[in-house]
Order: sequence, then C-alpha cells, then structure tokens
Amino acid sequence: MTDIKSMTQEELQRLLKDLGQPAFRARQVFRWLHRGVRSFDEMTDLSKALREKLGESCFITSPQVERRQESALDGTIKYLWRLMDGNCIETVLMRYHHGNTVCVSSQVGCRMGCAFCASTLGGKVRDLRPSEILDQVLFTQLDAGAPISNIVLMGIGEPLDNWDNVMRFLTLVNHPDGLNIGMRHISLSTCGLVNQIDKLADLGLQLTLSVSLHAPDDETRSRLMPVNRSVGVARLMESCRRYFQRTGRRISYEYAMIDGVNDTPEQADLLASLLKGMPGHVNLIPLNHVEESPLKPSRHVQEFQKRLERQGITVTVRRRLGSDIDASCGQLRRKAMGAPGGQ
Ligand code: SAH
Repeated sequence: MTDIKSMTQEELQRLLKDLGQPAFRARQVFRWLHRGVRSFDEMTDLSKALREKLGESCFITSPQVERRQESALDGTIKYLWRLMDGNCIETVLMRYHHGNTVCVSSQVGCRMGCAFCASTLGGKVRDLRPSEILDQVLFTQLDAGAPISNIVLMGIGEPLDNWDNVMRFLTLVNHPDGLNIGMRHISLSTCGLVNQIDKLADLGLQLTLSVSLHAPDDETRSRLMPVNRSVGVARLMESCRRYFQRTGRRISYEYAMIDGVNDTPEQADLLASLLKGMPGHVNLIPLNHVEESPLKPSRHVQEFQKRLERQGITVTVRRRLGSDIDASCGQLRRKAMGAPGGQ
C-alpha cells in the first residue's frame, strides 16, 4: 500500500496517469489530501470508481487525538497524537503576536541521547513519514481552528537524522496547492549533525536553522550531548559559518541553562568568543526539569545574558509558554505511554 499523502504532485500525476486519468486530477487529489481529508470518500469530485481504485492501492494517514492539553495562561495547546501503528507523538500549538506556530515532531523517540532531554530516554522507535509530519500541521490547524503561519521542527526527534522524509515534508508543506508555508516561516532545530548541515547549506533553502549548542567547550558539550564526542564544537562552528555564507541566513543558537553545568561567567566569555563575527543570536532556554534527570535549571540566566550582551552578542531568553501544561517536549508521550520505555 502506498502512503499517498507523502507523494509529491508530480508523483501523483504519474500514479493517476497509470490509472488512465487526466493530469488535472493530481492537483485535485493533492488539494484534498492537504485539506486533511481522512478517506477517499471525502473526495467528492472524483468518481466513485476512481475513489475505490485509489483505496485499493493507497492509504491516507490519519492520526487521532490521544490527549489534548490547553494552557489557561496563554492558549498554548499540546497534542498527543496516536498514529495508525499505535505509536504516539507530540505537537505543540503556540500563539504569538506574529501568528500561530506549531512545533512538530520528526521521529518517534530519538537516538541522540542528550542528557537533559525527555524525548531520547526510550531511544528511537522509528522515523516519521513525510505525511505524518505534515499531519501534525494539518490536524492541529483543523482541531484548534487556528490558521498556522509558522512551523518549528523542534519537537520529538532529530530532524536531520530523518533527512529524506524531512526534506520531502518541506517540499509538501511549501507547495502552493497545499499549506503554502514559506521557507522563511519554517525553523529547523538540530543537535548539530555537521554533514547534514553542510548538505542543507548547499540546498540554499531560506529556512531558519537553530543549532542546539548548550555549551561552548567540548568537555561540557560532550557530557551533555553524545553527538559532540565524535565531532567537536570547532567543527560544528565551521559548518555554521559555512551555512551562513551559503544561505545568508542567521543561525539561532539554543542554549538550555543548567545549574552549575554550563552557566559560569567563563562559559559566557567562551561562548561570546566563539560567536564573534558570526551573525546569529543566542536563545537562552530556562531548563525544563525532566523527572528522570538530576540536572536543575540555572539560577544565573540574567547574569549570563548580560555578560554575553556586553560582548556584543544578541541574546533572547525564551518565554515559557504553556508552563501549566506538560509543554516541555517528550514528557507527555512518556507519561501516556508509561515510562521508562516510553512505549
Ligand atoms: N533534535 C533537535 C530538535 C528537538 S529538541 C535538536 O536537538 O535541536 C528542541 C530543543 O529543545 C533543542 O534545543 C533541545 O536541546 C531543547 N531541549 C530538550 N530538552 C530540554 C529541556 N529539558 N529543557 C530545555 N530545553 C530542552
């Protein structure tokens, strides 16, 4: 069976041509899929015979709401979706002045092993299909009745570890006959897979790249993020520099502030020297406490911020949305699926 919503419009054209259909049918079917229909029967301008024919060789992914939590403070909604194979993933809808943003997952679980992150505790179960990443945007928009203008690939999983499916998702969500969300309205966050960052730079997309840095020195970063043990900070910064040179897009560096681990004045100075002359900005994130982890939120966020700013670095401190719900990533899924395996 073919996952029809993961197909590009050109691929649909070939499929429908093989079924003896004219070229314009592909556009019709593509539009229905990207409006979030859950069955071929909803495609009312296709003949019954064609709908049946499509149903014989193709399926339409259709996630169900397993849990939904809405913040009484700021309207943030966190969804736990149940996928067709029973796995669960999280999506968060955030309401900003500049528009509604969804934070989508790219994998079921994660294999990167970052010490502070709840999403990786049970390892990676599988990659998400392009359709399943798209569905998070489609069905959040439908369920919440909120038009989505921005997407961040910052949910469960490492997007660059699911390269083919994430690239295809970008093509789909960007399509004028689909959701038509521009690349400049999409951010992709990575723990720093340098080969893939280099590949992304060569594509020259107008995406915003967020790099989860979290420490300026190899010792601390390797302790927090196993990915750093084979490729250190210096090599990562090389890829970041190259990314900016190729795309002209400033990089956003994520930095989760952890008590006594990465929040010293020396580390602020080292971070500032690392970013000197590199257009970009630092986003300080107050650590979300994860039950299974001994790491605690830093008490020095403001000093750290000021010290960076004094050295000419642009810094923002992430506003905490949905702090009254389980909005920190990976925690809802773990609770619902029964920790420790998350499955
Ligand atoms: N794998 C990608 C995207 C998913 S994580 C990445 O590593 O960037 C999204 C962001 O949340 C990353 O910056 C990640 O480091 C951060 N994060 C994970 N757990 C966190 C926690 N407990 N507190 C604060 N930030 C966290």
